[in-house]
Amino acid sequence: MGDFFVKITEYDKCTGCAACYSVCPEKCISMKENQEGFLYPEVNEDLCIKCGMCRKTCPVNRAHFKELSDMPETYLSRSRNESIRRCSASGGVFTQIAKNFLSEGNSIVYGCVYGENFEVCHAAVSDTDNVEKLSRSKYVQSRIGDIYKDVRQKLLEGKRVLFSGTACQIYGLHSFLGKEYDALYCIDVVCYGVPSPKVYFKYLRWVSEKNGQIDKVVMRDKQIYKKFYRACYAIDLKNGKKYMKLTADDPFALSFFRNLSIRRSCYECHFKTVHRISDITIGDCWFSENLSELEDVDGVTLTIVHSEKGKQLMESGNIESVTVNSEKAIKANGGKIYSCAVKNPERDEFFRDIECMEFDDVVKKYLKPDKSVRMWLTNVLKNNGLIPQFLIDRKQEKEFRRRISQTIPKESFGRMEL
Ligand SMILES: Cc1cc2nc3c(=O)[nH]c(=O)nc-3n(C[C@H](O)[C@H](O)[C@H](O)COP(=O)(O)OP(=O)(O)OC[C@H]3O[C@@H](n4cnc5c(N)ncnc54)[C@H](O)[C@@H]3O)c2cc1C
Repeated sequence: MGDFFVKITEYDKCTGCAACYSVCPEKCISMKENQEGFLYPEVNEDLCIKCGMCRKTCPVNRAHFKELSDMPETYLSRSRNESIRRCSASGGVFTQIAKNFLSEGNSIVYGCVYGENFEVCHAAVSDTDNVEKLSRSKYVQSRIGDIYKDVRQKLLEGKRVLFSGTACQIYGLHSFLGKEYDALYCIDVVCYGVPSPKVYFKYLRWVSEKNGQIDKVVMRDKQIYKKFYRACYAIDLKNGKKYMKLTADDPFALSFFRNLSIRRSCYECHFKTVHRISDITIGDCWFSENLSELEDVDGVTLTIVHSEKGKQLMESGNIESVTVNSEKAIKANGGKIYSCAVKNPERDEFFRDIECMEFDDVVKKYLKPDKSVRMWLTNVLKNNGLIPQFLIDRKQEKEFRRRISQTIPKESFGRMEL
């Protein structure tokens, strides 16, 4: 890594948003993969004219905190269309909004897709039939490539643009554009952290070696159990079989939830504030029944609206919404909106092992499902319908009470401004 890189921003804070790469007038910055599989900017110092645009545009350098005392409007929402809900992460709010947006014409939508060889990257969609490529969460850091430049081009052509991504990507885009556009609408996802593409590909190879060639990857497959859905990692194989694991059992999901495979900057994310620069923030809502009459049958989206444009998107049609107490709903989300993931002390060793150990051995060392006898027995009983529903409800109620009793730190109420 060249010396000049250090001058863009601190290594541990760089989110890989690609704003510096996109803005460089000499095209002398490239996004290069580090040992952990994350992209970082690398400056070709022979071509660099030291104009400082990269530093000035970096949203981490530019962001300052604006204190706000009110709470944003918060809703539990879902698409009225059942097939949209089934193919989405939660209530399909983004997918429905994207369809509405494109139906109005002269519009384009950007979001995260599975690209070639299942690479997770950003892409543009301009017709309603292809919107579902953007649906569902892909729990891997998405490659931005030249998307910001493409967004600017479309805005200059007079198109309406809807852009979705993680908060750091939304800040990256805004910072790159450098000015407000009336025709730009942004939706960010509540983001726990972004897992490494390198670990993801090692995992896919592992699944493939054990089960067969991969045909399709889904990280939020919906399995309806009793009346609620459970999220599964589901991989269709070309031999007709399917690899399927609940998130609590899948090694790649566990590397995420155990804070092992996520990017360094996610442990001190600047953009995790209650108010956001985007028009809407969307997240999961696992306790909707405690917050509103909207039932969580196949998913409900926690929807935080930050602007008039956000309201317009929410009113664009076919979305069922219930206003909820913002503070309660945000707390019930489990603090993911405002607090950063805590670095697992084994993280660095995990990445060293990923480099030189067989994935099977990495699984044995770090990613075994929690199989305490009590948990195992509870799961077996639950899966066979032998635990009465009221006991499950009671457990969920207890978890809900625990979450809403947390306090939102005062310093999270504001917003990062550019
Ligand atoms: C890496 C990651 C971590 C998350 N962590 C949490 C969390 O801790 N708590 C929580 O409440 N919610 C989290 N979410 C958000 C949640 O999974 C759903 O996106 C949210 O519930 C919206 O559901 P929906 O049905 O309305 O979205 P859908 O209609 O299914 O649309 C999915 C949206 O997610 C975007 N997206 C998918 N993958 C990525 C990606 N890799 N990078 C950027 N954008 C992406 C798509 O562009 C699209 O806008 C996370 C999402 C991601 C991608």
